[in-house]
Amino acid sequence: MSIKDANRINLPESEMPKQWYNILADMKERPDPYLNPATNQPAKPEDFFPIFAEELARQEFATEPFIDIPEEIAEIYRMYRPSPLIRARQLEKLLDTPAKIYFKYEGNNTSGSHKLNSAVPQVYYNKKQGIKNLTTETGAGQWGTALAVAANFFGVPLTVFMVKISAEQKPYRKAIMETFNAKVIKSPSTTTHAGTIILEADPTCTGSLGTAISEAVEAAVTTPDTRYVLGSVLNQVLLHQSIIGLEAQKQLELVDEYPDIIIGCAGGGSNLGGLLGPFMRDKIQGKTNPRIIAVEPAACPSLTRGKYAYDFCDQGKITPMAKMYTLGCGFIPSSIHAGGLRYHGMSPILSKLYHDGLLEATSVFQTAVFDAAVTFAKHETILPAPESAHAIRTAIDEALKCKESGEAKTILFGLSGHGNFDLAAYTEYNEKKLTDYAPSDEELEAGFKSLPVIG
Ligand SMILES: *Cc1c(COP(=O)(O)O)cnc(C)c1O
Repeated sequence: MSIKDANRINLPESEMPKQWYNILADMKERPDPYLNPATNQPAKPEDFFPIFAEELARQEFATEPFIDIPEEIAEIYRMYRPSPLIRARQLEKLLDTPAKIYFKYEGNNTSGSHKLNSAVPQVYYNKKQGIKNLTTETGAGQWGTALAVAANFFGVPLTVFMVKISAEQKPYRKAIMETFNAKVIKSPSTTTHAGTIILEADPTCTGSLGTAISEAVEAAVTTPDTRYVLGSVLNQVLLHQSIIGLEAQKQLELVDEYPDIIIGCAGGGSNLGGLLGPFMRDKIQGKTNPRIIAVEPAACPSLTRGKYAYDFCDQGKITPMAKMYTLGCGFIPSSIHAGGLRYHGMSPILSKLYHDGLLEATSVFQTAVFDAAVTFAKHETILPAPESAHAIRTAIDEALKCKESGEAKTILFGLSGHGNFDLAAYTEYNEKKLTDYAPSDEELEAGFKSLPVIG
């Protein structure tokens, strides 16, 4: 059997990329600079030092195309990477499409998602600097779990502020984090000033990523030798996640393929930002012209209905401001099951690529997403995370378009994680209790009112 007939295109460990790829190096125009909220002036790496480890703050501003992956990090990556690239042959057959569908699967580690790719370097650089405690937020729980695994590995204590609604929907996530020695606090909480204010305004608040970030950042800046780590949105996170795209590119080369369409779900933009890296580089350099599509939930449509504006990365308005597509840091999306996609903003890099027409975006409703998830699970045997299923929905739709047109396109999508902890969501789907929701224009306007006024 030739490798072209394979289902799983595995890359040997020795072929794992030795450097991360930094897309900022190749963007013709870079995102507008972060602004220091105290001065409204462009932020410098030093402005981030109280929040982030210095090396990570520097990576936030790095402009070189490739950055070496330290051996201590590569050693951990090799326990679960390279991740497989899989041809979805059974799904292709079911859809009766001439399209070839490949997916890059990041669920093969305890965190169950791509998040570990950035958790490991973030803990490593903090440890190297002598930081004694880490804080973070988690929505769906994948980031908290990934970070708990990494923090425990390097022996750094971790406090996780977990979005209350997610903690209630996914109690087992909390159990894994605690197994890896993390302290888990439901957010909003009264352990911080930011949480207390939010609860005073709305005692029934179920939380959001923005709320939890505020609490985690406050805990970091008010506790000695403590830093905050963020699992998405930032340039450094997209840098670490570039390993996904670099591997996928090598794997596709093994079978003489190049994607015509690249699809990823987008919450803060890290799995898609990582997957698209080398392909977007080719596109910017005019070598190829794949369509690259971000898929977001209709309930939290930052690219498709948001504003391109400066905003805080958190609801507590503590972090530097980023120019991004945003629904406003005060926007709290409805409690859809794809908790990892409930973030008000979008990575400044992806926002800029979208603004410049290099990236497309679409939004989908959760019932249609779960239809796709279950179809995929039954035919490809992996139960996808609800977040990842957004990408599946669009991949299926594009493959069906190929059936109409008779075009044998090559589709690559990111399967960012498994859904083994999302059984409450699957139960609701099976019992036909899932509902669809999109915010009204009035609700969006209310969110936009929380945007900071600059200048
Ligand atoms: C966190 C998460 C996402 C959303 O975050 P991005 O930064 O947009 O990738 C998507 N899928 C899974 C499985 C996640 O855990």
